[in-house]
Amino acid sequence: MKIALLTLGCKLNYAETSTYERGFKAAGLEVVPWQDKADIYLVNTCSVTAHSDNKCRNIIRKCHRVNPLANIVVTGCYAELKRDEVRSLEGVALVFGAREKQSVVPSVLALVSGKDITLDESYKERSMAEEYRHISSGIMPAWSSGERTRSFLKVQDGCNNFCAYCTVPYARGESRNIPICEAVRAAKLIAAEGVREIVLTGVNTGDFGRTTGESFLDLLKALEKVEGIERYRISSIEPNLLTRETVDWIASGTKFQPHFHIPLQTGDDELLEKVGRKYTTEQFAGLIDYIRLKMGPKVFFGIDVIVGLPGETPERFERTYAFLAERIRPAFIHIFPYSRRPGTRADSMPEQVRDSVKTERVKRLEELCETLSAGFRASCKGMKEKVLWESDNHGGMMSGYTGNYLRMEREWDSGRIGTIEEITI
Ligand code: SF4
Repeated sequence: MKIALLTLGCKLNYAETSTYERGFKAAGLEVVPWQDKADIYLVNTCSVTAHSDNKCRNIIRKCHRVNPLANIVVTGCYAELKRDEVRSLEGVALVFGAREKQSVVPSVLALVSGKDITLDESYKERSMAEEYRHISSGIMPAWSSGERTRSFLKVQDGCNNFCAYCTVPYARGESRNIPICEAVRAAKLIAAEGVREIVLTGVNTGDFGRTTGESFLDLLKALEKVEGIERYRISSIEPNLLTRETVDWIASGTKFQPHFHIPLQTGDDELLEKVGRKYTTEQFAGLIDYIRLKMGPKVFFGIDVIVGLPGETPERFERTYAFLAERIRPAFIHIFPYSRRPGTRADSMPEQVRDSVKTERVKRLEELCETLSAGFRASCKGMKEKVLWESDNHGGMMSGYTGNYLRMEREWDSGRIGTIEEITI
């Protein structure tokens, strides 16, 4: 029995697909590339923009063309938000929403065997059965594997914020997390695979602890003790949830790297309030200043910005531009043109911004990002930094990242894969 797995969207989806893949392999299914004729196609979808929805439909149609007799199983955000639309596509046999992710593997196994399968019978490896122990907790522990040096570990899912432009709370449900002991157990399994770096992921990672009464900082402290994992990164964290106490602890020389990915979305206070963000630009800047004060000027900041939110007048855009260019000066800007999503508050807001204006503004921020990135890289020249070498061979060269997320290259040397080396930038 052959299964092909396809993933669209975010790192969370990739971590979840990786977990399904381990489950299918443990149950004896052969995992093949999607271009091969598979008996089952599992498509883990995204719905962040209207374009993502289109992409999902196209992929599902392509799978059906490769093997019209195959069963197509669809999960992820698009499956949750457009269930009927997905069901109506030819070849689709099963659809799983946000709270049904734990059922994906057992249900597919039941589908292929034509009978109900109990978990303990179907998983040959005890560890695999354990991954599904939390069926009733409403969150599926998940981590990515296959990369030899880095793994994305999902510790949290869902969000209760309901920012005006965002469909994620509808697609992924309320904020919930795995317990710290479960995260530590996963980190130990990841370390046993020889992986050296973990990126903590979630929909709203900083909200960790809501369902278990634990704290995000306690999670970091517990993970730091896991032997074999030498570096951690936090994939993205809301500015109002990154506390001074957590910054102090990270700065006090732990395995957590000087690299922060923080969403700003807009640098205009009125617009921040309008779309339901929970901080002001002054608070945002205060956090960045505090991190730089505690950890030095070489911290890598990646900042998310949405361009063309409803009500983003030219003056408001200029304010965002100036805030980034003069006050925050991040190493990178993740730029997203605003995409209207039916059912969200922002979709019915007045003062929608024309697409051509969004394109212009995206271009200006891209140019700013290039200048800021080049400046950041130049300012790190001559610094001693540690690089974790990765396994890809690109034309005789290998690459890896420094603690502060600068991509370095050197001649390919297989003996260096997964090792950490001190270099001068
Ligand atoms: S905090 Fe993030 S995931 Fe939650 S609603 Fe806002 S943008 Fe969406």
